[in-house]
Amino acid sequence: MRVRRFTGLAFAALACCAAVAQPRVTLHLAVVMIEGSGWTGERADGALREAGAILARCGVALERGAIAVIAVPPDLIDFSTPAARELARTHPVARPALYLVRGTRSRPAFDAEAIGRGNSRTRPEITDTVWMTAATRDPGIALAHELAHVLMDSGEHSDEAGNLMRDKTSAGNTSLSAAQCARLRDTGTANGLLK
Ligand SMILES: [Zn+2]
Repeated sequence: MRVRRFTGLAFAALACCAAVAQPRVTLHLAVVMIEGSGWTGERADGALREAGAILARCGVALERGAIAVIAVPPDLIDFSTPAARELARTHPVARPALYLVRGTRSRPAFDAEAIGRGNSRTRPEITDTVWMTAATRDPGIALAHELAHVLMDSGEHSDEAGNLMRDKTSAGNTSLSAAQCARLRDTGTANGLLK
């Protein structure tokens, strides 16, 4: 498997300037981009910046290293649980991790998926990962949503208007309640995902 890394922006702090009462905690995210997936470094950077701005409102600073761009066999370009397990085994990275893939072979098909502790017992290789397809709309919001699932270790959604955790991702759904912030910080810290 070939590995190429984008230079620049390494370990750049993406969250900035949010007025938060809580002490800041850091989420260091490993990012893997599949070559030929349709993702570009620019689109990934934009999504990471936007997700960082949303999580900063909970006092979480999203930091990431260089994007690892990997070339994989054709059967690993799209998400499926077997493909994801194989990819995670053959290209291990720190956790939590974001994988940018082309599409999905899972049914029902989701543009983005979060795998926390609670839904990874039969697939431990992909615990604490987020998988986003190139078709994901509003990828920054979708990334923040999926990371919140991983940090809270919960698949729960919210009915609250404008909430990030509504089941449908949209440009207007970016808010997190104080209770959601507390939960994602507490659970994320307890699971070693926030430092
Ligand atoms: Zn969700």
